[in-house]
Amino acid sequence: MNEERLRQAAHHLLEVERLVVFTGAGASAESGIPTFRDARTGLWARYDPSELATRSGFFRDPGLVWRWYAWRRRLVEEASPNPGHQAIAALERHIGQVTVITQNIDDLHQRAGSREVLHLHGSLLQYKCFEEDAPRLLPEGALEADKPPRCTCGAPLRPDVVWFGEAVPREAWRQALECCQECELMLVVGTSGVVQPAASLPYVVKGYGGKVIEVNPEETDLTQVSDLFLAGRAGEILPRLVEIAFDGRPGGEDR
Ligand code: NAD
Repeated sequence: MNEERLRQAAHHLLEVERLVVFTGAGASAESGIPTFRDARTGLWARYDPSELATRSGFFRDPGLVWRWYAWRRRLVEEASPNPGHQAIAALERHIGQVTVITQNIDDLHQRAGSREVLHLHGSLLQYKCFEEDAPRLLPEGALEADKPPRCTCGAPLRPDVVWFGEAVPREAWRQALECCQECELMLVVGTSGVVQPAASLPYVVKGYGGKVIEVNPEETDLTQVSDLFLAGRAGEILPRLVEIAFDGRPGGEDR
């Protein structure tokens, strides 16, 4: 059944000039970076990630939040892009305009070779002053420390990520909306579709006449808005999709 759907999805890919790939934590799962759901079964199982990823969590215990992000950063630094990231990057060789809109705070899309990546939730590899909301470099040894370093203004530094309850970066959101209004197709990969406002983007695509294809091992809140649902892992489905659509391996000849 998936094979027939894959062929239909490949057919859509062949026809588009403007594609958006919208990714969530599941896109990086096969690189060994836990999704929030996975994190509940692992090292940090005692903590609810959605509570660590809040301003109130940081106020309550800045050291705990600092160590959690330092741990996540190490995981990302030790990880490599998986075949799903690589297949997404390969799409740029075949389709006029490909924009990746990601909720992920890792840099695995860029390391796989994707050139246009909009980060809706910031980056785990960058830091800012908690008070001044301006970028800051980390002092030596900060990632091994038990608590966050201080800015020259005295406020703690924090990862430059969007916590629950915070606004998404204005410019990235503006560009994301524009791409979703203009694209003919959105591939939704590895997101549970529950974090707003990001989860509204597939609805924007539909509202402007585009199609939505979802890749996920499980159905999600976004499955109802999807024209096609491809059940499976991103690292298996996406390379196969690129292969069927463009008659070669990911990274093969242009059409
Ligand atoms: P989520 O944890 O809520 O959902 C993950 C989704 O991925 C689930 O629907 C799951 O079925 C699916 N999935 C699991 N393995 C998959 C695979 N191999 N291939 C395809 N799909 C797979 O994640 P979310 O929807 O991104 O939203 C929660 C928040 O999690 C986001 O704000 C994001 O910033 C944050 N987050 C990011 C990272 C990262 O940067 N890598 C990791 C964990 C959480």
